[in-house]
Amino acid sequence: MLAQSSVSAPFAQAVLAWFDQFGRKHLPWQQQKNLYKVWLSEIMLQQTQVATVIPYFERFIKRFPTISELANAPLDEVLHLWTGLGYYARARNLHKTAQIVRDQYQGAFPTDFAEVVALPGIGRSTAGAILSSVLNQPYPILDGNVKRVLSRYFAIVGWAGEKAVEQQLWALSAEVSPRERIADFNQAMMDIGAMVCTRSKPKCGLCPLSFQCQAYGEQDWQRYPGKKPKKSLPERTSYFLVLAQQGKVYLQQRPNQGLWGGLYCFPQFESKDELLAFLQQQGIKHYQEWTSFRHTFSHFHLDIYPIYAQLTPPIEQQERTDWRKIAEKTAKYKSQVGTELKYWYDPDNPEPIGLATPVKNLLCQFQQHKLNFS
Ligand code: SF4
Repeated sequence: MLAQSSVSAPFAQAVLAWFDQFGRKHLPWQQQKNLYKVWLSEIMLQQTQVATVIPYFERFIKRFPTISELANAPLDEVLHLWTGLGYYARARNLHKTAQIVRDQYQGAFPTDFAEVVALPGIGRSTAGAILSSVLNQPYPILDGNVKRVLSRYFAIVGWAGEKAVEQQLWALSAEVSPRERIADFNQAMMDIGAMVCTRSKPKCGLCPLSFQCQAYGEQDWQRYPGKKPKKSLPERTSYFLVLAQQGKVYLQQRPNQGLWGGLYCFPQFESKDELLAFLQQQGIKHYQEWTSFRHTFSHFHLDIYPIYAQLTPPIEQQERTDWRKIAEKTAKYKSQVGTELKYWYDPDNPEPIGLATPVKNLLCQFQQHKLNFS
């Protein structure tokens, strides 16, 4: 569905006038704009705020100035630069898409909506945002910010995650989006959602849409958008083995698919008994239980119980096993990281690999522990 309104319609006019005065025009991906930069920023901005994204975006562009450089990099390095941003499927899809663009589009990001939306990790709103932002193609968008603004402006009560409500919001987005100046309009809608029509305490007094906003008229913005039906998240437990040897820590790469796919993690056990049995097999008698903590994913809580232990044989002996160094593995597998790799990670000389946030935090704790006991 294409944009249907015109720049002189009251909604679009108000939004564009606001954009000229207050809209964001100095974000890093808005400078020397191209499809690659805008696509990268749109993927990073999914579920993540602008302020968090900026340093990640700048590091990415510095390391991968072109889409082909991103496509040719090992996935490990892409995940390494993504560490901390969360939702790692985004990084894996980013890498996959870069390779498709390199192999099927001679390195030039496609400009046809159907081709863009068919790429991994790109939905309808993201495709519209990319093509409207760079090429002014008249596609409306519907990200979380736009959903909130439209739900309040039109007093849509239902939860935007429901198909029927989402379709209604898409139709409204197309209805208010102008065919011209669509790049500015879409940016303005995202900015109004992020800066004015905020989740809590919207600044209606500063909003260009207050003149006809129904939520403002009713003085009842809390009703919109409708809330997601509450469902308590299931709880899971995992025992992490922080196994150290001469200042290095044992990490394993997780399979590419699924949770923390392609990232490196400590060996995980479902129960303490299972972990202790493993230690016994290795001839390890002493261990320490570190403070447990909870990490929450979108669909469950993970209660993590870290257990720290030292492996006693000298490292030279361990290197005779099949544990390889990252450099050897990346040279061999390039970005096709499909096999599970076991690895002695040296926090003093870290290699560029992807680490989930709880693993990164436990590695900091490990470093602290080394300092305290050295
Ligand atoms: S008037 Fe208030 S509730 Fe309505 S769109 Fe603007 S900020 Fe949101």
